[in-house]
Amino acid sequence: MANYDSARARERMVQQQLRARGILDRRVLEVMAAIPRELFVSEAMAAQAYQDSPLPIGEGQTISQPYIVALMTEALHLDGDETVLEIGTGSGYQAAVLSRLAARVYTVERLPTLTRRARDILERLGCHNVIVRQGDGTLGWREFAPYDGILVTAFGPDVPPVLVDQLAIGGRLVMPVGSQGIQELVVLEKTKDAVERSTLGGVRFVPLVGRFGWERPRNNRN
Ligand code: SAH
Repeated sequence: MANYDSARARERMVQQQLRARGILDRRVLEVMAAIPRELFVSEAMAAQAYQDSPLPIGEGQTISQPYIVALMTEALHLDGDETVLEIGTGSGYQAAVLSRLAARVYTVERLPTLTRRARDILERLGCHNVIVRQGDGTLGWREFAPYDGILVTAFGPDVPPVLVDQLAIGGRLVMPVGSQGIQELVVLEKTKDAVERSTLGGVRFVPLVGRFGWERPRNNRN
């Protein structure tokens, strides 16, 4: 795909899928207008990279729909100096978006092949403030906690309490919660003496598989 076409496809995506549906955060819009999403999918899928849907990335997993990436990112209210944890690196696209909006990004992926691929592409794009690790993200990543933002990009039965423990006071966590058929995007905001919960509507994600997620993949090869 030529650069020119790619930039136009991105601009169209930002206008028609993000702005038109109410994404307002200027920094989120700018970053998503700049990151070449086609590099995070296979060459065979490149022409569809800016389409209004999730796309397969191998291993039974998907890169999220652009609107959902924007919605989840916006909900973190990032200013640029935050430390963010992502669970479910997948293609690495969401991590690349976060890398331009926060100071440091730690991201955990369960599957080794996807971990390696994401690490390579993030390196190639110069996202040097992202560290990718292979492991069970339902345990969080204690070493670099607390996090100002935690983003979980696979659905679980509920938010693992250990992730709430690793959230800073004033921090926000966004995660799809529910069952195979129906999930909602939950937003938690941790204050000094409470954790406030709100939702951003219905979504569909792949399952979060791990100690504090699902025991094994459902309708899913891995
Ligand atoms: N954020 C990704 C979307 C990935 S789909 C992107 O931008 O492309 C969700 C990912 O979560 C899958 O790659 C899946 O393998 C991973 N995953 C599922 N359970 C996990 C766990 N317990 N820890 C880390 N990653 C997990």
